[in-house]
Amino acid sequence: MSKPTIATRLARPWAESAGSVTPPIHQTSLFTFDDYAAFAARMAGASDEPLYTRVQNPTVACFEEMMADLEGGEAAVAFASGMGAISAALLALAKPGMRVACVEHVYPDAYRLIERMLIPSGVRVEYFPVQAFADDPDLLAGYDIAYLESPTTMMLEVVDLARVAANARAQGVLTIIDNSWATPLHQRPLDLGIDMVIHSASKYISGHSDTVAGVVVASRVLIARLRDLSLPLVGAKLAPFEAWLLVRGLRTLVPRMRMHEATANLFVDRLAGRAEVTKVRSPGPNSVPGLNGRSGLLSIELAEGVDIPRFADTLKHFRLGVSWGGFESLVVPAAISLGQAGEKNAAQRFGVPPRLVRLSLGLEDAEELWSDFEAALEGAV
Ligand SMILES: *Cc1c(COP(=O)(O)O)cnc(C)c1O
Repeated sequence: MSKPTIATRLARPWAESAGSVTPPIHQTSLFTFDDYAAFAARMAGASDEPLYTRVQNPTVACFEEMMADLEGGEAAVAFASGMGAISAALLALAKPGMRVACVEHVYPDAYRLIERMLIPSGVRVEYFPVQAFADDPDLLAGYDIAYLESPTTMMLEVVDLARVAANARAQGVLTIIDNSWATPLHQRPLDLGIDMVIHSASKYISGHSDTVAGVVVASRVLIARLRDLSLPLVGAKLAPFEAWLLVRGLRTLVPRMRMHEATANLFVDRLAGRAEVTKVRSPGPNSVPGLNGRSGLLSIELAEGVDIPRFADTLKHFRLGVSWGGFESLVVPAAISLGQAGEKNAAQRFGVPPRLVRLSLGLEDAEELWSDFEAALEGAV
């Protein structure tokens, strides 16, 4: 065999899994067929063998199947980011002339997507406090889609999703929720009657702050609509290696979430006694029906006398940075986005308290994290 042939031939025997406990990474752009008939059947839509990774890849399918099972949904489709998943859902389902009711304090880039792409395309969008979706049975009259977060971004307001779903079904409205905060361990929206669940898998699903990814879980029919439009045509597909990292992340989702919860419980207990802290937002099992756990993402408001930049700069274990849900503890002072110039952002439009600070509690030792936090509070007054 010539060198070019050796270098380019298919490494077939090595492409099998050979009894390994982790799935292989199908790091391939295309899939070949044994014969003409098999290839022709796939092209005619008579088989669903993998064809091309933009559309379908077994490592990605493995992650999708795990997410569908965890959320209790029929099917799932993964994307290159949480925003890839959100834009796929909204752009595939919300058509010009339709009306969308969106929750206030929605993720800031979802807000920008709505303002810059959805509304200019002719979709009508109004924003409501999350509680209104449950309290007002007529809120959704005349709407086509309700787009929700519970808890909401930064404010962590929660709502009874079963009541929201019942109101929406009575009006024939399709419901979509971003469930990134709760993960399927703490809240399963499909069980409560919500139609579609979205995750930024970059957060707890990955858990290792090394991947950006998204996923949508829903009925087979809804997922097929997203899959047909978004993957082949928009092309925001998840890479096989990223899918493999997410499968790896899911192995430890349960123990990680237990540890985040234990640390958050410790913080909530001790924050209650602190004069420097005027408010704690940390939804938990008793906040609302259908929510069965506390995650490590909470927000607090610091009293007037606390110097927020000094507090942030004194922290040693907590670092300053966006995102959340990883092994490392992070803080985000809301004042940073409230001060941004230019087009009004979601925090400015919906009014986030300027003294709010969001904490993402990681997997460090809880007592060491608390000591660090306490020292920074005391050093900032
Ligand atoms: C981070 C985040 C997103 C966006 O996800 P990406 O993976 O960063 O694109 C969406 N919703 C919520 C609630 C988030 O925190």
